[in-house]
Amino acid sequence: MPARDASDAYPLTLGPDPRFCPACGEPVSARALEEDHRPRLVCANGHVTWRNPRIVVGTLPVRDGRVHLARRDIEPGRGRWSYPGGFLELGEAAAEGARRETEEETRLRVQVGRLIGAYSRPQAGVVTLVYEADVVGGEVAPGAETSEVRAFGADDIPWDALAFSTTESALRDWVASLPGRGPRFEPELYVEGDPPDG
Ligand SMILES: [Zn+2]
Repeated sequence: MPARDASDAYPLTLGPDPRFCPACGEPVSARALEEDHRPRLVCANGHVTWRNPRIVVGTLPVRDGRVHLARRDIEPGRGRWSYPGGFLELGEAAAEGARRETEEETRLRVQVGRLIGAYSRPQAGVVTLVYEADVVGGEVAPGAETSEVRAFGADDIPWDALAFSTTESALRDWVASLPGRGPRFEPELYVEGDPPDG
């Protein structure tokens, strides 16, 4: 797994633990609940403030075999490349959120296709779902958080200038999934009776 990650210096995307109950405003404290495996933030009225990872959704928007990446104009990872993506909203299906984020950040219109992968980053408190998407319209134009959008072929992806480990993992998985690119099965190693090379 790639080690580089521009978000490592940033706190959990959830922010620090809240001090007050969002339901009633009373102070919360960490308490062990019955039959639970870690302490939870609980107020005097017994409301539990759940703290769980957030879901990020994104796409690899592809047209003519080239994948569109966006150059980030915000931290973390300013100046580096990533696929368009962002936090899934409540009430929104994952693929729909991926389409919305893609259209906001690139102005491309896309049809969301297969799931490339689900990537967990426990240190950042996020799980990222990345889909392949067909570009079906629109004109490339960077959105508010993006300085540039550019299409890259599988052989010219800027591996050294990617923003997050998730970006690298998803692009590697996408490239490996392309025809003729997958992990190579070398049948000659398994043919009985063949003389070994050299
Ligand atoms: Zn409460």
